Amino acid sequence: MRKLALPNLTVSDALTACLAHVGDADRATRLLSVQAHLVAAEQDYHHNASLTTLHKIEPTDDVLGLVSEKEMVALYEGNFSRTKTQGRQIYDAVRAAATHGICPLCGVQRANTLDHHLAKTEHPTFSITPINLVPSCSDCNHSKLTHQPSSSAEEALHPYYDFVDDDRWLFATVVEEDPASLIFFADPPGHWDQTKRARVIRHFGSLSLARLYTSQSSDHLPSMRFRLEMLLSSTGPEGVRQHLLEELNDRLRDRNNSWQIAMYDALSKSQWYCSGGFVIA
Ligand SMILES: [Zn+2]
Repeated sequence: MRKLALPNLTVSDALTACLAHVGDADRATRLLSVQAHLVAAEQDYHHNASLTTLHKIEPTDDVLGLVSEKEMVALYEGNFSRTKTQGRQIYDAVRAAATHGICPLCGVQRANTLDHHLAKTEHPTFSITPINLVPSCSDCNHSKLTHQPSSSAEEALHPYYDFVDDDRWLFATVVEEDPASLIFFADPPGHWDQTKRARVIRHFGSLSLARLYTSQSSDHLPSMRFRLEMLLSSTGPEGVRQHLLEELNDRLRDRNNSWQIAMYDALSKSQWYCSGGFVIA
């Protein structure tokens, strides 16, 4: 997971933009009447997210009994994510925070949606709160578990609040069969606290990242073959290994975890692969 900077937009910015397209006077009055509550809830969210205690925020059926869950969901869908609305400008600005447009949850696919970190059906109060809206790809958005966590360890990683790239946790092993492939797994360091370890393992499993990274690496491996064959014939297995280590070290200068880092690390450690495992029989 890649960390993102907190959005500099607030729920007040989002509500003001959404209200521009609320024609019904009664609905607009009720939405305005909960604005102060949405602002206070946003501060509470920020406080809890900073402490990994978002699970302490209880789900609700509505906002202060004045605006229903259905109305908040309709506000998000009709006045915030819908194109050509003022709300959509806020939506697009939040989504644009994804580095290079890449989903921060998987680090691979395009961030083409916003994921409600706390689901809008369980927490209608945060339906249009920017710090609850995380750029993500469609797959990560749909795979994310929507059930209410009951402890910090059950909380999904939050790209605005969590940083898990301070040490290596993503690894792979080579399946030494023709054609070579990789199996990815999460193995966080023992010096991390149990909560952080559990959350990373849960993140990796719930988003089916093993499958995604195997698919990415299987697509990439054939493109390396020609270069490795040249190296094997000129410098032997050690030359192949040195090349793979250079590719690994180049990437480690940028971050600690990516499927490419796990792949080059695993390939460089496989004597079978370095001795010609990449050659198609
Ligand atoms: Zn993703």
